[in-house]
Amino acid sequence: MLQHFGIPVPAGTADRDAVKAASDISGPLVLKAVSPTLVHKSDAGGVRVGLSAAEVAEAAQLMSAALAEQGHQVDRFLVEEKADPGHEVVVGAVRTPGVGWVVMLGLGGVFVEVLADVAFGVAPLRTDQITAMLDELRGLPILQGARGAEPADLDALVTLVERLAGPDGLLAALPPEVVELDLNPVIVNPAGAVAVDARFVLG
Ligand code: ADP
Ligand code: MG
Repeated sequence: MLQHFGIPVPAGTADRDAVKAASDISGPLVLKAVSPTLVHKSDAGGVRVGLSAAEVAEAAQLMSAALAEQGHQVDRFLVEEKADPGHEVVVGAVRTPGVGWVVMLGLGGVFVEVLADVAFGVAPLRTDQITAMLDELRGLPILQGARGAEPADLDALVTLVERLAGPDGLLAALPPEVVELDLNPVIVNPAGAVAVDARFVLG
């Protein structure tokens, strides 16, 4: 769905057989368990970042066993390209009665609660409104290249948010039973912005 709306995601394949899923991808891989009971995958050991193709079979076996011990049955494995290092940004949306989609933009990925650096807007969002949300973030200088780091591609981030929350974006097309959506994280670096994880919540 993200791809259909032009939101960049890593190339990847899901299959019962992790090795088969890995066969299309070259370079460093990310292995993720797909299970209906598993929401926060990495907390339970369901994500391995930076594997080589040769490491996938054993990693998948260990992952299955560790998750089974916690009561999660792994249906399939998602094997995807590892995104280049960057800053982790959260883009979330909650369907709010009487208001519409309330969109949240925040810094920090897994640390979003700790940093509490977020900005809100209501969809549909125009480009200038998305830029204004970014400007509200105290941590914006980090993305802009604080301390000599190369600036992240903020235009790519704005475009990604527009494809989610703009007038013709994904949110506007979702059926009413989808009540919440999180892209966490979106990895933003000098080369672009890519959503490496997505969660849809049905109400
Ligand atoms: P979950 O949020 O369910 O624990 P994620 O898919 O977000 O699982 O993966 C956990 C973390 O692993 C991410 O926050 C990110 O830091 C890293 N990660 C996940 N997928 C990729 C990827 N394709 N490339 C690089 N890093 C990734
Ligand atoms: Mg995540």
